[in-house]
Amino acid sequence: MPEIAEIIRSKRKTIALVVQPGGRLVVRAPQRASLKQIHAIVERHAAWVEARMKEMESLSAPRTFAEGSSLPYLGQDYPLRLAPGPGSGLRFDGASFTLADGATSQAAALFEQWYRRQARKVFTERACYFAAKYGFVYEKLRLSSARTRWGSCSSKGTLSFTWRLVLAPPDVVDYVVVHELAHLRVKNHSPDFWRVVESILPDYKSRRKWLKTNGASLNWP
Ligand SMILES: [Zn+2]
Repeated sequence: MPEIAEIIRSKRKTIALVVQPGGRLVVRAPQRASLKQIHAIVERHAAWVEARMKEMESLSAPRTFAEGSSLPYLGQDYPLRLAPGPGSGLRFDGASFTLADGATSQAAALFEQWYRRQARKVFTERACYFAAKYGFVYEKLRLSSARTRWGSCSSKGTLSFTWRLVLAPPDVVDYVVVHELAHLRVKNHSPDFWRVVESILPDYKSRRKWLKTNGASLNWP
């Protein structure tokens, strides 16, 4: 069971669970609620509390760019290696990132540039794949910097995706790509729309849920 950091009693009538920045679980409870009742509620919502704790921990931890720091890409964390000397290049070999140790002060910006380049490549590749396979025709693909709007589809057929989505697992990227492609056929979120999405990704609900639960962790820097 998740650890309770603090129980705050007041005149309230119901028990509420609050996960604070840093991952502290605070329980707000009525004066007369027993510890047993409180524990039962925490137990029942343990999965939610643990997911929130993880999210709040990662949100409050500042990024560091030191030897061995871990950096996200497509749903995984990769270690950072520092190479001696100047230079402004950031390299990724599929197992780790390498950055010149003279460039660590600009690391956040260098990573953002790199993520944007990868985002364009990855999203274009996935959009082409699904468009060709399922007969969608889109006008063009552009990148945005939105923090919570993962994608959109204009009336002219332009697909937009926030580059931050490249921090998410590939399954989730595919869901957002398919979601926006499906809007080329059905503009709204009616049952017809979800039938199009489901016909392509039968497990789209779990991918969508991942985004709802973990979306706030796709932050940069
Ligand atoms: Zn939509």
